[in-house]
Amino acid sequence: MSDYKLGLEYAKHQDQNDKLASYRNQFHIPKDKQGNDLIYMTGNSLGLQPKITKTYVNQELEDWAILGVEGHTEAKNPWLPYHELLTESMAKVVGAKPIEVIVMNTLTANLHFMMVSFYKPTKKRYKILIESDAFPSDKYAVESQLRHHGFDDKDGLVLWKPRKGEELLRHEDLESILKEQGEEIALIMIGGVNYYTGQFFDLKRITELGHKHECIVGFDCAHGAGNVQLNLHDSGADFAVWCTYKYLNSGPGSLAGCFVHERHANRKDLNRFTGWWSHNKQTRFNMRDEFDQLPGAEGWQLSNPPILSMAAIRASLDIFNDVGIDKLVEKSKKLTGYFEFLLKKLGEDVIRIITPKNDDERGCQLSIQVINTDKALHDKLTKSGIISDWREPDVIRCAPVPLYNSFEDIYNLVERLKAILNG
Ligand SMILES: *Cc1c(COP(=O)(O)O)cnc(C)c1O
Repeated sequence: MSDYKLGLEYAKHQDQNDKLASYRNQFHIPKDKQGNDLIYMTGNSLGLQPKITKTYVNQELEDWAILGVEGHTEAKNPWLPYHELLTESMAKVVGAKPIEVIVMNTLTANLHFMMVSFYKPTKKRYKILIESDAFPSDKYAVESQLRHHGFDDKDGLVLWKPRKGEELLRHEDLESILKEQGEEIALIMIGGVNYYTGQFFDLKRITELGHKHECIVGFDCAHGAGNVQLNLHDSGADFAVWCTYKYLNSGPGSLAGCFVHERHANRKDLNRFTGWWSHNKQTRFNMRDEFDQLPGAEGWQLSNPPILSMAAIRASLDIFNDVGIDKLVEKSKKLTGYFEFLLKKLGEDVIRIITPKNDDERGCQLSIQVINTDKALHDKLTKSGIISDWREPDVIRCAPVPLYNSFEDIYNLVERLKAILNG
């Protein structure tokens, strides 16, 4: 997109012509003390609340009040199969088949459960490869898995690093690592969209490379789900995990998603931790039957799940289903492209964008490095009504979310940033 224009009129015009603009009204937009909408740029951290969420959650509270335990079968949306109401829409959002997707647990917990099944180290092949700037929880999780299996977590961890003076990762460097150490690497576990740089990796290409070297390949898609086209099935990845409280707007600490590729759906040889919810639904409540594994991702469930959290996820997924991820990504590219256009006008001596320029290699987030600044800048931005995220020493992460952020948001953000920088 090169036909972006400066000025408020242009931003307003874009909003008027935006077919998805009305979705903003379906969300609660946080406000300042005077009652003005804040410019909310942290949907990559905690997505905003859809107005319908309350209705969906209240339905379950009411059924619980009226029905008690009978709600498991008699609620308007019976609780026993409640998770099944989420499967198809969630599968669409991440580009998977329904049998490959389950909503359960929380993100880091799912990552561990996936590693229980898919990280099967041997004396020769035991290492785990991650990005050098992986999200801390992911790094801690894989390190603890290495220790759990009796390996040294320094020796066992292989880092895919950016080159000196660079921020982004290069696929050819991953190829080199695998050429050198491929036979020792059991698992490749990459953040599908890096939380810090916003770099969206080619999941299929990484998976093919990993599989060529006989490694298991899994992705943490916390920053990808609801943000980019993940096409998990086609990527061929063995597993993926993500949370629902970022771009999927399902509330703080809400349940997470998990993908297990169809080719593993009926494998009985995989080690796994199980519970009564991994067991055949028809005989689950007989209570005394021998364990009978459910096929597909459902077979990784452990527990009777929290319905109130699932109700919030259902509300959110209904909005995603209504828009469609294709249209969402289309708007996202325009909105973030416009943001990039305005930021560039500030000059390369003032700001530098770390996130890839190619819009197929990023989602909506831009990670903006501000030259010669410190956290005082972030405090001023916050005071001016912009909710953004600060990463030491000098990076602001902003995620214009196509469901509820507007072109006018972006215009105002850059104007306020400019005013602050000009002091
Ligand atoms: C947000 C995020 C997490 C957080 O994990 P929780 O288990 O939900 O607390 C982990 N990894 C990545 C890559 C994230 O973006």
